Amino acid sequence: MQALSGKVALVTGGNRGVGFGIARGLAAAGADVCIWGRDAARNRDACEALQALGVRAEACVCDVTVEAAVQSATQCSVRMMGRIDICFANAGVTSDVREPITEFDLHAWRNVLATNVEGVLLTSKHVVREMIARGDGGKLVFTSSIAARLGLSTRRSYPASKAALEALCRCLAVELAPHDIQVNAIAPGFIDTEMTRRAGPEFADQILQRLPAKSLGSTADIESVAVFLASPASRYVTGQCITVDGGYSIT
Ligand code: NDP
Repeated sequence: MQALSGKVALVTGGNRGVGFGIARGLAAAGADVCIWGRDAARNRDACEALQALGVRAEACVCDVTVEAAVQSATQCSVRMMGRIDICFANAGVTSDVREPITEFDLHAWRNVLATNVEGVLLTSKHVVREMIARGDGGKLVFTSSIAARLGLSTRRSYPASKAALEALCRCLAVELAPHDIQVNAIAPGFIDTEMTRRAGPEFADQILQRLPAKSLGSTADIESVAVFLASPASRYVTGQCITVDGGYSIT
């Protein structure tokens, strides 16, 4: 018997990067998995890779910033999978904007907050409705970032969005405890994905100089923590954010 046999997990942003790593970890632990992303072709490729692990895997095209899309993807996921026991609200974006506060651009700020904060709230709203209606608890996990706790000069939207997520994790943990729904977060450090590759090799070199682990993390490094937070083993853990960063944030 695997840790997540018989469970159904939803992973937003599950078609690549950190989200795909989470989905793969959950599938390897026996969960059936539904992924959401905007790109249908990437969703299909990710599903095929997950099905190869011997579990059921389905996908819904969904932009998490649009409430009607989130509502219909939730219904579609429940229809296809039967239920949702575990939800990783992982979809997120970063921003290339570097600007002094005197040049603050509201449009770029709102774009990041719309996905990283509002998208997570909308996902939580509709998925938690399903969990509460079913009445046998659940797991909700957010993907934060160590950026939530760093002073990143001129790059305020991404760190602020992740700091907001960590606060929301604590608020929802208290609100949903009576429903036996545990709410936690994972704060990765620098993980080798499309998002970090876009920042260029100089960025990686800069990080590596300070990183005790001496190599960027891989999506596999997130898998075991994701499985723990999705499993009954974390029954008494809620409102917490687990940092997975090779020691970067303690140097
Ligand atoms: P990627 O850019 O590689 O992947 C982002 C994922 O999110 C894709 O699956 C994308 O799918 C999905 N996505 C983005 N916007 C939306 C949207 N509006 N609606 C639905 N899905 C969306 O990024 P990572 O895998 O690196 O990042 C994933 C999460 O991990 C993010 O929350 C990020 O902040 C966090 N993180 C990443 C770190 C890293 O070092 N890589 C470090 C710390 C945190 P599609 O394009 O098909 O919609």
